[in-house]
Amino acid sequence: MNVYPLPAADLKGEGMTSQRARDRLATSLKEGGIEDARVIDVIRNTPRHHFIDQALHSRAYENTALPIGHGQTISQPWVVARMTEALLEFGTPQKVLEIGTGSGYQAAILSALVPQVFTVERIEELLRQARRRFRQLGLTNLRSRYDDGKLGWPDEAPFDAIILTAAGDTIPTRILDQLSPTGVLVAPVGSPSRQTLIRMRGDGQGDFVQEELGAVSFVPLLGGIG
Ligand code: SAH
Repeated sequence: MNVYPLPAADLKGEGMTSQRARDRLATSLKEGGIEDARVIDVIRNTPRHHFIDQALHSRAYENTALPIGHGQTISQPWVVARMTEALLEFGTPQKVLEIGTGSGYQAAILSALVPQVFTVERIEELLRQARRRFRQLGLTNLRSRYDDGKLGWPDEAPFDAIILTAAGDTIPTRILDQLSPTGVLVAPVGSPSRQTLIRMRGDGQGDFVQEELGAVSFVPLLGGIG
């Protein structure tokens, strides 16, 4: 676990951002079927209110997606937990690539669980804010890049795990090409009205085994930089 270097009062939060609200969220994740205790602990200990606008702080530990500006959202904690758990189920990946930094929350959760996180965002202002949060939380095992995430991060490939937090019709081939032969990829796939969370796992021979993990709702994976 990272020990966040923010002033204690900021991290502890008050009222609806208090430890009690976080404990309630952790309980609701367990009740919702999240089984990985490490993931639940990291979510319990990560200040989600730090990743959203002050006006929404009272809702930070509700199990809902919330707006972060530019038409984007910070994902629902249950979905963050489910995707993280699915990514880590076969062991701890060394290098993880995230497409869609957004608020930076999912990347921060991953950075507490794996050695190295790389995250790509196409909206410069969102990335700027996320970077400030990473700095304030002292997350040093995390690198971020302003680019079209459909291109992945070729210079750092291969990755042991890849997570997409925006939904396309398919997984861009350039991203799949950057997954290690035994790597794991978790992503929402489908149209805006009908998306499924899928997991692909490399069999080491160049093929992937694909599973469906349930219905989800994500913002679209767009092309180019914003
Ligand atoms: N993981 C984020 C979720 C943010 S919503 C969080 O924890 O807050 C998804 C994000 O994906 C948005 O910020 C959106 O701008 C970004 N996105 C969409 N298409 C993208 C692309 N092609 N490359 C990089 N980021 C993209």
